[in-house]
Amino acid sequence: MTYSVKETYLTIQGEGAYTGRVAVFCRFAGCNLWSGLEEDRSTAVCQFCDTEFVGIDGSGGGKFDSPENLTNHILSFWNGTDAPFVVFTGGEPLLQIDDKLVEALKKEHVEMAIETNGTLIPPDGIDWICVSPKQEAELLVTKGDELKIVYPQDGLDPSNFLDLDFDVFSLQPMDGPEYNNNLQETLVYCRTHPEWRLSLQTHKYLQIP
Ligand code: SF4
Repeated sequence: MTYSVKETYLTIQGEGAYTGRVAVFCRFAGCNLWSGLEEDRSTAVCQFCDTEFVGIDGSGGGKFDSPENLTNHILSFWNGTDAPFVVFTGGEPLLQIDDKLVEALKKEHVEMAIETNGTLIPPDGIDWICVSPKQEAELLVTKGDELKIVYPQDGLDPSNFLDLDFDVFSLQPMDGPEYNNNLQETLVYCRTHPEWRLSLQTHKYLQIP
């Protein structure tokens, strides 16, 4: 397996339950719900993406021809004394994460989290699974650690997800031209449905990657 990575960098997790935690972010190239090309956005299954995930040309990006090579690459960004913590994102990281990569990371005592759209089944051994469902896509991952809904999405009712097997339910205002309205709607929803936690993309407020 060759892994295609758009970018890798050390940062502070800006959203969701691990907000504020230092992490190596490893962004895989490619997604199964959008090509990443603007000309395809209007026909994509997922149309609100705010992430650049095409190619391997970002900082810390590249092709890695073995799980060990990608593991070493990730470790090279970590400068803490605690166990390294990596967040796999994308694109859709589960297009590429396999048992062998999980095994190689475990061997180096790396704690790993993923942010996935929930349409592909993850391999065993991932420490934190955060699923972000998309209205038009079939949700296959119905258990994990955090379920994070980008809100609002036409036709997607957060209450339909509360029966799923997750520890944390987060609601995050959709970015874009309607952000202020989306933020207000998200605040109202969280206030009236306290089982949902507000997730803000604090890295955008802070202007860090
Ligand atoms: S599923 Fe995620 S990465 Fe893929 S297009 Fe949607 S928001 Fe972007």
